[in-house]
Amino acid sequence: MTKAYQELETYLETAQALQTALTLFEWDNETLAPKEAGAYTGKMIGALSGEYFRIMTDEKGKALIKACKEETDLSEVETAIVREVEKEQKRLDCIPADEYREFAELTSESARIWAKARKEKDFKAFAPVLKKILDYQKRFASYQAKEGQKLYDVMLKNFEEDFDMKSLDQFFAMLKERLVPFLKQLTDSKRVVDDSFLTGDYSEEKQEEIGRFLAEYVGFDFDKGVMAVSAHPFTTNLHNHDVRITTAYNDHVDDSIFSVIHECGHGIYEMGIPNELTQTPVGQGISMGMHESQSRFFENIIGRSLAFWEPVYGKLQETFPDQLGKISLEQFVRGINKVTPGLIRIQADELTYSLHVMIRYEIEKMLVEEGLDVEKLPEVWADKYEEYLGVRPKDVSQGVLQDIHWSQGSIGYFPSYALGSAFGAQFFASMKKKMDFDGLLRNGEIRVIREFLRENIHKYGKLKTSRQILKEVTGEDFNPQYYVDYLIEKYGRIYHIDR
Ligand code: ZN
Repeated sequence: MTKAYQELETYLETAQALQTALTLFEWDNETLAPKEAGAYTGKMIGALSGEYFRIMTDEKGKALIKACKEETDLSEVETAIVREVEKEQKRLDCIPADEYREFAELTSESARIWAKARKEKDFKAFAPVLKKILDYQKRFASYQAKEGQKLYDVMLKNFEEDFDMKSLDQFFAMLKERLVPFLKQLTDSKRVVDDSFLTGDYSEEKQEEIGRFLAEYVGFDFDKGVMAVSAHPFTTNLHNHDVRITTAYNDHVDDSIFSVIHECGHGIYEMGIPNELTQTPVGQGISMGMHESQSRFFENIIGRSLAFWEPVYGKLQETFPDQLGKISLEQFVRGINKVTPGLIRIQADELTYSLHVMIRYEIEKMLVEEGLDVEKLPEVWADKYEEYLGVRPKDVSQGVLQDIHWSQGSIGYFPSYALGSAFGAQFFASMKKKMDFDGLLRNGEIRVIREFLRENIHKYGKLKTSRQILKEVTGEDFNPQYYVDYLIEKYGRIYHIDR
């Protein structure tokens, strides 16, 4: 280790500590903090973010990075850390400090305004805030943009570095071309899948019991992780020995079951980061897209398969004898794969999920690049739902106000959900050639699958890009064909549709 690098490490300790504190506040806000704490804690959060901004943009840090870049004997990990820190410095440094702070304050307030507007089904109450957020994000993107680079491309790259409008247009065009008509064929077939047994008097206590059992079963380590309750399930991590997931309980038992398995996918990714990388700028999952590839892989490809449930369905029946005692394994698996084109993204089935994401992508592009007026959003939103999913929201709470992302300032985030699903299907296609995937699940040897993911994806943290990992694991570049084929094969089989 060189002298400059050693200094950088010490220098980064405070930035890392501030990030950890901010993460912990965020977790606390969503889980245990009392309702009225928000505005007061918000001030502390503002101060900590301000300090983080100051550290990451001051001259000392820049000089250290410059000195490190001149060193010739840095290790691969050290080089990656220097690269990540420089990227973060550049991202923040082009934004004037007062604008950064104003924006942080705006977004801490805007999520509350959004929540109220959604509750009251009043888009007009949220529209002016959304306009402000959009203006800030466009301005920030213009500070960051290279010459000739489109603003929405800058926003997209902040979430998934290797993807821009050109590649995403192709990706979504394929989904639209093949999934929209397939979905129409499926709904026209009028085949009925019964999932009524998944709704009913499922006690919270028993749901938690089975949730913890399944989390452990798929490999979530409760010595390094905890599970709590929040309005919307999410995962967060302080480091690889403190990974936190949440779930929510209602009378649809499948909601909590699959949210737990989904968040475990995120959690297992973070637990798989090596000690050498954790608590450094490269000690996290590479991107939101890669993260979703793991969570949606666990939730859908593993969790909604017959083979997965073969060894554990008995346990589920034992936990809920009145509700599931007479439901066969095959009935259960059909039920958890029921397709219902609906209005709400987070309740969407595996087949229609990416169409929800596609709608958001098209709308964001219109807002950032084509000058779509924010006021017209509810109408545009409803038209697109009608066109792609055959349903039209009756009010904005079921339409344009359903997601929190824009109110938090995240524009360009949504495509990672669909990309992640496609990455996962591509991994799956290649893994099936290397191992008896279903056989392992049937024998309860999910460990082998998990270890493959850790060895080939998790252990790299941010050392490689998503595209690099995809290429190395599957032997080819990103290819969404696998995803579309997987969906059409699976749902064609379940719904007996000729393809
Ligand atoms: Zn997720």
